[in-house]
Amino acid sequence: MRNFILDEMLHDLGVDMPTNKTSSADGIEWNLTDFYESLDDPNIERDLNKALKRADDFAEKYRGKIEELKLTPSEFKEAMDEYENIYELMAKIGSFAVLSYSVDTQDPDRGALYAKAQEKSSEVKNKLIFFQLEWQSLDDENADKYMESDELDKYSSLIRHWRRYTPYMLSEREEQLVESLQNTAKKAFVRLFDETIGDIEVPIEIEGEEKKMVLDQALSLLFENDRDVRKKAKEGVTKALKDKNKLLTFIFNNIVLNHDTISEFRDYPHPMTPRNLDNRVDKDTVDALMEACINNVEMVHKFYEIKKDLLGYDKLYDYDRYNPLPGAPSEITFEESKKKVLNAFERFSPQMREVAEKFFDNSWIDAQLKPGKRGGAFSASTVPSVHPYILLNFTDKPRDAMTMAHELGHGIHQYLARKQGYLQQSTPLTTAEMASVFGEMLLFDKMLEEEDPETKLALIGNKLQSDFATVFRQVVMTRFELSLHEARKEKGELKPQQICELWLEANEKEFGESVELTDDYGWWWSYVLHFVHYPFYCYAYAFGELLVLALYGLYKEQGQEFVPKYIELLSRGGSEDPKDLLAEIGVDITDPEFWQKGLSVLWEHLDTMENLLKETE
Ligand SMILES: [Zn+2]
Repeated sequence: MRNFILDEMLHDLGVDMPTNKTSSADGIEWNLTDFYESLDDPNIERDLNKALKRADDFAEKYRGKIEELKLTPSEFKEAMDEYENIYELMAKIGSFAVLSYSVDTQDPDRGALYAKAQEKSSEVKNKLIFFQLEWQSLDDENADKYMESDELDKYSSLIRHWRRYTPYMLSEREEQLVESLQNTAKKAFVRLFDETIGDIEVPIEIEGEEKKMVLDQALSLLFENDRDVRKKAKEGVTKALKDKNKLLTFIFNNIVLNHDTISEFRDYPHPMTPRNLDNRVDKDTVDALMEACINNVEMVHKFYEIKKDLLGYDKLYDYDRYNPLPGAPSEITFEESKKKVLNAFERFSPQMREVAEKFFDNSWIDAQLKPGKRGGAFSASTVPSVHPYILLNFTDKPRDAMTMAHELGHGIHQYLARKQGYLQQSTPLTTAEMASVFGEMLLFDKMLEEEDPETKLALIGNKLQSDFATVFRQVVMTRFELSLHEARKEKGELKPQQICELWLEANEKEFGESVELTDDYGWWWSYVLHFVHYPFYCYAYAFGELLVLALYGLYKEQGQEFVPKYIELLSRGGSEDPKDLLAEIGVDITDPEFWQKGLSVLWEHLDTMENLLKETE
């Protein structure tokens, strides 16, 4: 089932993100008063009660009506409007709660409001769930009549999509039980995981002195030029993860079993089925994508051979994967980054710049570094009656500028799609990463123009490195997850060492002989939040990236003609399946050749790199 509230609101950048102590983003905080004045604003309680009351009224008015064929299409539409409004109201509270919590996870009041919003949203969901279930249980003939009626046009794609879950439904009572029990099962493990990772202190010896740092901060050291620092970061992170390995292994085992148990009760043919349904893509498309990546993995080996030579090393290790190539700019302030991103967006479309500026001018961004703040970055769509908010942890590194472009891409997409209404504003994950990666491409191209061959070489190399993390690494992660589910099923509760082996095995396929993965690296599955929060999320990054590379190719071909089509695509939000929305701008995602097209762009980058290398010698 789709979870409309809280669960799918956070879109993360799937690579390791840093947090330092201070940066040029100090004081860049978001202002959440567009939701509520403060944590103890009496309107929160009032809205909660209102949502519960309206959910009760809704149930009283509509229960049994679809089943008994007592709704005209226009009454059905009226019911959908009210259903959407109740969800939106709940999501407003939920958004405020989760965003407040994100910037201070150690504050018990914020934790309490977050938990309360989750519980109450389950309660509302339970009251409303009958409506979707009745719709899904309706016979095809009568369902078709509704889906074809003009009155229901606004919701036709959505209610059609709901019908796809029909074969996997449980009874209403069972659905309610699953929903309620997840608070003490999956959701509880997710929170335990977040708090465990949040509490981690990584011991790292720098200049003879042992320092303790949070995990994100330690991971950010992998981007340092000093190899010794990277090696120490690797050792520190490994030690910290090993210290928690019993608890983390337990969490992973339960998350996997929880997923598989529910899948079994629902008769899903495959553990990925619920994710693919939510993503509104079929398994064949995903398989084609994964296979295309595996067939092109040689590109990664070739790249790391070049990197090894450029750095003058005999051998590359896992902690040599992310450090930038020499010659790239090493610092950028928040203001400079803002300027570059806005200019890059403006060149594509002034409208894009205009929307992006709103985020800065109205304090819709929280970018400063703060103890207790959640790591990484996201853009939360929240609700159409408010607007999206963006969280960054800006550390003055060039890739923070990329992350800024990434999240603003999301933000613009979410902002434009608000007109589709709460239930249809969000795209499935597969196309959720489309606008973000496109935003990165715009920034990258703009930056490239301004540089000499040596800097260009470094920039392209670094971009490829990060593209590999978005494409190949995510496919590795998906394959790891698949193997995890298989092993859990075959062997029962897995021991830490068994998971380490699966992790190394999946990763070795990406790097081949080009990078040696140390035994320490075997433990690095255990902090990846996607596995815990959003099973099988990761392939959506690869999907999004390759999709964008192909779209960007179209933009280069068509020039300004492409711009209004792209903006229209964004503003359609999740109102149709990705396949149909993309077909309108001439892209066929069911064609295996399509994925190869995206990968060819990466091959071209690699060629450019080799040519620049000859030029600079
Ligand atoms: Zn993203």
